[in-house]
Parts: sequence; structure tokens; C-alpha cells
Amino acid sequence: MSNFNQESVLSVHHWTDTLFSFTTTRDPTFRFRNGEFTMIGLKINEKPLLRAYSVASANYEDRLEFFSIKVPDGPLTSHLQHLKEGDEVIVSRKATGTLVIDNLEDGRNLYLIGTGTGLAPFLSVIKDPETYDRFEKVVLLHGCRRVAELAYGEMITEKLPNDELIGELVRSQLIYYPTVTRDPFRNRGRITDLMESGKLFADINLASLDAAHDRVMICGSPALLKDTHELLTRRGFIEGNHGEPGQFVVEKAFAER
Ligand SMILES: Cc1cc2nc3c(=O)[nH]c(=O)nc-3n(C[C@H](O)[C@H](O)[C@H](O)COP(=O)(O)OP(=O)(O)OC[C@H]3O[C@@H](n4cnc5c(N)ncnc54)[C@H](O)[C@@H]3O)c2cc1C
Repeated sequence: MSNFNQESVLSVHHWTDTLFSFTTTRDPTFRFRNGEFTMIGLKINEKPLLRAYSVASANYEDRLEFFSIKVPDGPLTSHLQHLKEGDEVIVSRKATGTLVIDNLEDGRNLYLIGTGTGLAPFLSVIKDPETYDRFEKVVLLHGCRRVAELAYGEMITEKLPNDELIGELVRSQLIYYPTVTRDPFRNRGRITDLMESGKLFADINLASLDAAHDRVMICGSPALLKDTHELLTRRGFIEGNHGEPGQFVVEKAFAER
């Protein structure tokens, strides 16, 4: 049996010149944990070209959703950005990744820190009822350069709170904190700076980060990963991994080539 399924594109949404999302059919045998990534791609010149992608839909939904960058000369995304309804996408039958709540010790508050498309894995984590069982407050931080890049803001603030399955949990436990660095906006600055200065915690009315009861997931650029890793280890947080839960977990939103 092939290691890949062929899925059909059901919808495409372009957020900006550099960001888009699409949904596909889902083979019912494809299983994943919320927060994981898989390999997806296209056949280009008869050969499959695949890249790692976080699954942005929750594991109980019957479609798959992906949130993608458009790299102008990117081998995959220069083609992928032209997807339209009915096109075929290759999706691996396997998913993996460190951004799953099982990799975290129990705690009080869960911080999900994503920059750019690093938001994607957390879109499935915030739709998981178990996330709200395990943690009292779930704080979703999305950092971008421009306001237009804050994709999914409306889904998080308008649609999820009214969702039949998780609306009540979202209304009472989810805190969404988008921030930008290059446009005027209600929240401005890099996430690590907002944490260091204490502004974030004052704004959301929670105590500053504490390894005793806060847990953190991070997905973003190499610079974000480095800065957040340093900030957390300085505060005594221990990194978790497969099979060894910790106080924070990290995943690259993309690899630099
Ligand atoms: C674990 C993991 C999960 C990933 N999940 C996603 C996802 O959910 N959505 C997504 O769009 N990409 C994701 N990526 C990146 C993805 O695998 C590809 O790199 C991306 O689709 C571009 O492919 P490409 O072939 O066009 O260009 P590539 O040759 O892969 O990349 C070219 C360059 O573009 C830049 N770049 C690539 N991806 C991004 C990005 N997402 N944001 C900013 N700059 C980028 C990097 O500088 C890279 O060197 C993930 C990568 C990893 C390792």
C-alpha cells in the first residue's frame, strides 16, 4: 500500500500575497494528534514534491486544512499557491511532531506561541476539548509583521466561541493575543519582548511565566525559537519531547535552507 493518499482540494482562501489556506478531503484512515505535522505536496513533472505541513484542522473534522506561505521561487509553494477547487494534493498517511499536549506535564495555563504560519498547529490544539480539560487558561499568541497577516483572527474570535462542540470552553478559557511589529495595532511588538517587559501578562491579567504551573508550545522562525528557548530556560523551564513530557515543547515553522 502506498504511504500517501491523494486528496481533492475543497476550498482555497488567499489571506495576502504571501499567505493562503486550503482545505481538502480526508481519507478516513488518516489519523493524527492535534498539533502534529505531515508531508504534503504535488506531482511536479511526474515526481512527487513534498514538504512538511502542520495540520490546521482538528483531528475530529472530516476535512484537512493547511495554512501556507507562498515563497516566490519555492519549489513547492510556487505551484501550491495556484491550487484550485478539485485539484489533487498528495498527503502522507503518517503524522508526527512534538507540539502535542501529551508532551507536556500537567499545569495551570498553556501558552501557544506562533509566528507567521507557526500558528497552524495551534489551530488544531485550540479546537481540542482535551486542551481545555488539561489547562485552566489557554493563551494563543500570534506574532506577525503586518495586521493583514494575522490570519484566522475572525475564526478564533467569532466562529469558535459559537461552535457547538467547544464554544463554551473557548469562551471561558481561551485568550487570543495577536501582535504585530510593523503596523499600528492594539498589540505591538515581538512576543518575547512583550513577555520580558511583562506587558503581555498585564494585558491578559495573568501572572508572569512560572515553570511551576505554566506550560508552553512554540512554533515559529529560527529566531523566535532561539529567543523563546533562552527566555524559558533562564526561568527554569525544562524542554519536553516524545515520551518525556516537559514544561515546554518546540517545533520549527520552517527549515532554513
Ligand atoms: C515541521 C515543519 C512544519 C511545517 N509546517 C508548515 C506549515 O504549516 N505551513 C507552511 O507554509 N510551511 C510549513 N513548513 C515549511 C514547509 O515545509 C516548506 O518549507 C514551505 O511550504 C515552502 O516550500 P517550498 O518548496 O516552496 O520552499 P522551500 O525550499 O521549502 O523554502 C524556501 C525558503 O522559504 C522560507 N520558508 C519556507 N517556509 C516558510 C514559512 N512557512 N514561513 C516563512 N518562511 C518560510 C525559508 O527561508 C526557506 O529556506 C513546515 C516545515 C517544517 C520543518
